[in-house]
Amino acid sequence: PREVQLVSRPVGWPTPENFALVESAPTQLAEGQIRVRNEVMSVDPYMRGRMSDAKSYAEPYALGEAMHGGAVGEVVESRAEGVSVGDHVLHGLGWREEAVLDAASARVVDTSVAPASAYLGVLGMTGLTAYAGLTRVAKLKEGDVVFVSGAAGAVGSAVGQIAKALGASRVIGSAGSQEKVDHLLGDLGFDAAFNYKDGRVSDLLREAAPDGIDVYFDNVGGDHLEAAIGSLRLGGRIAICGAISVYNNTEAAPGPRNLARLIQTRGTIQGFLVGDHYDLAGEYAAKAAAWIADGSLTSRETFVDGIDHAVDGFLGVLRGQNVGKMLVRL
Ligand code: NDP
Repeated sequence: PREVQLVSRPVGWPTPENFALVESAPTQLAEGQIRVRNEVMSVDPYMRGRMSDAKSYAEPYALGEAMHGGAVGEVVESRAEGVSVGDHVLHGLGWREEAVLDAASARVVDTSVAPASAYLGVLGMTGLTAYAGLTRVAKLKEGDVVFVSGAAGAVGSAVGQIAKALGASRVIGSAGSQEKVDHLLGDLGFDAAFNYKDGRVSDLLREAAPDGIDVYFDNVGGDHLEAAIGSLRLGGRIAICGAISVYNNTEAAPGPRNLARLIQTRGTIQGFLVGDHYDLAGEYAAKAAAWIADGSLTSRETFVDGIDHAVDGFLGVLRGQNVGKMLVRL
């Protein structure tokens, strides 16, 4: 089996030369461990941060070792009680075709209820990020006008639909192509959407939300954040989930120039990490199941095939080549 290692730290945009595909060393199972043949793995924007060695909430990836991240696969050997050969498990050792790990750090998932990929997306960390960010951080209320950036991506598309399901009066999304805008309006039930490459984000947002916004779910940062502050209504809340527009910057980007608007609007800005909100996982799973069943929460996936294309998949997320969740099928 093969694995993808980080061999040098990217400066600015990562390139294929920062990674190597290598044959992994054979490993024996210890008591309590399982061997998993990975079927699908996640490539996420946050992984860009782990490729740098700057101090952050997650340990940097070590050079010359396999990277890691969410994956689902089939157990092919087990020395653990309660996990059998043939079970599917969700775990944290992606970026490799085969994973050996303690069964205690894996969760058995039911692939007859939902496909393996869903546990990495709408039923997994992605969906919970959207739900926790909206309910707990942005304190969404019925009737709110909600704006979300990165709206055609994995988290963003869940945010828009969940906001609607929770009673938002109007949901506005931004994305990077006309095709994605059509998807938001035609398939995901957004009330308005724009391509942020079509002009100044502040102008495009004002056009889409002439009366302003109550909630901004930020996946992008930069001029999107400034535009949202500019359109914020009294008591508006901004949840900072991500800032993908600056992840490959080599110099700090200037901050929003209009922060003083938070005074008159009594607005708040709060960052969050999904890892702090796993106590909501059960509540979210129950709601998500109902929303999926009644059609109010749908999810698209974009697949890249083969471990040898995993890096392309990761670079593709940073470039916006995905609609919905970007995944690598192994
Ligand atoms: P997405 O599926 O949304 O993929 C990333 C998208 O970002 C791309 O498809 C692209 O779409 C968009 N993008 C790339 N560059 C830019 C840019 N310069 N300006 C605007 N949009 C850009 O990824 P995820 O759903 O996995 O993650 C979304 C965000 O949420 C990320 O910022 C991520 O770091 C964050 N996140 C945070 C978590 C937390 O706990 N706080 C947990 C999970 C994710 P387009 O074509 O529209 O440009």
